[in-house]
Amino acid sequence: MDLDALDAADPLAPFRDRFALPEGVVYLDGNSLGALPRATSAAVAKAVAEDWGQNLVKSWNTAGWIDLAADIARDLAVVIGAEPHELAVGDSISVNLFKLLGAARSLRPERPVILADKRNFPTDLYVAQGFAGLTGLGLQLVETPDELAAAVTAGTALVMASHVDYRSGAILDLDRLVRAAHDQGALCLVDLAHSAGVLRVDLAARDIDMAVGCGYKYLNGGPGAPAFLYLAERHHAAARQPITGWFGHAEPFAFEPTYRPAPGIRRFQAGTPPILSLVALREGIRIAAEAPIEPVRAKAKSLTTAFLTLVDQHLGDQSFTLVSPRDADKRGAQIALAHPDAYAITQALIARDVIPDYREPDIVRFGFAPLYLRHTDLQVAVARLATIMHERAYDQPAFRTRAKVT
Ligand SMILES: *Cc1c(COP(=O)(O)O)cnc(C)c1O
Repeated sequence: MDLDALDAADPLAPFRDRFALPEGVVYLDGNSLGALPRATSAAVAKAVAEDWGQNLVKSWNTAGWIDLAADIARDLAVVIGAEPHELAVGDSISVNLFKLLGAARSLRPERPVILADKRNFPTDLYVAQGFAGLTGLGLQLVETPDELAAAVTAGTALVMASHVDYRSGAILDLDRLVRAAHDQGALCLVDLAHSAGVLRVDLAARDIDMAVGCGYKYLNGGPGAPAFLYLAERHHAAARQPITGWFGHAEPFAFEPTYRPAPGIRRFQAGTPPILSLVALREGIRIAAEAPIEPVRAKAKSLTTAFLTLVDQHLGDQSFTLVSPRDADKRGAQIALAHPDAYAITQALIARDVIPDYREPDIVRFGFAPLYLRHTDLQVAVARLATIMHERAYDQPAFRTRAKVT
């Protein structure tokens, strides 16, 4: 395996320069918090000093703040295969999910069940629980996402799932799920947190009804970046959402006492958008829209495959278990390795400038952002991991103390 040759032949190599990466650090956590695009610092500084500092409230019009979320949707549409007018950028996945659950209820009022699986990201399940409690809908949970398709019935209003499993990186067979849902007249909602920006998503071509996704992972929008939601155009006229805020009103600045939904996707906006965060998100999504998805996907497969080969070579004698699919076609841009000392190992790696993250109960999760990672970085990462394992360097009390954020 010639890692230098793989990097030399990498069509995406120029993208690395678009990011401000700390010297000497191998960053394998772009799926948790994407790296900082170089353009972001200047864009945010300008928005603060000039637009806010000098032009103050005028900037809603003169700097285009009022249209910023819709502007970002144009680039995002390219990344995930949708139309800009089917995307609402803003809020978090959690809040957007709540809005879409409400929309699903308005579109399938006679159906009593939301269907999900226990492996989905906890916030997705928590929000569904909250929504079910509020509305009296039932929440039916199956054990794994593979069981969802067979569990859809004529009583299912909505089936929801993650495109890529946040823990294992396994890719869900979306086409099968959408078919199963539509065969029964149900709607299908997909969480794109770990696929937007690294996998071909193609929401429209796949006939997906609804989606949510994250701005701060592979889209490099910065900590707490606004998320997004997608609703297929065919549902726009009939869909209602429960957070009926003034930014989703037909005429927010008419200041009417009664809510009237805006036509189209804008009714999914709720409150005042976080402009500084949107300014940062715009830079991240702009880069993602410039990177063609085929080479991005090919590089994700190549990086994860190279990493696994190195792990097999250098860590075969350690008790790591591969949690991710072996077949590169079946996994996203991440590798999960289980180990009884996973938390301490993660901390020891971070202390040596290799940054993965830890996921309960026993997983070291490595993310491989194709726009800024090189194959040669993997050699460094696995060499440091091998040293840590062979010296048992993780076996220190300091590495076992849990921080607030793992
Ligand atoms: C990261 C992630 C989220 C985050 O939700 P927020 O409400 O935006 O914090 C949700 N779902 C999945 C699958 C994720 O990976």
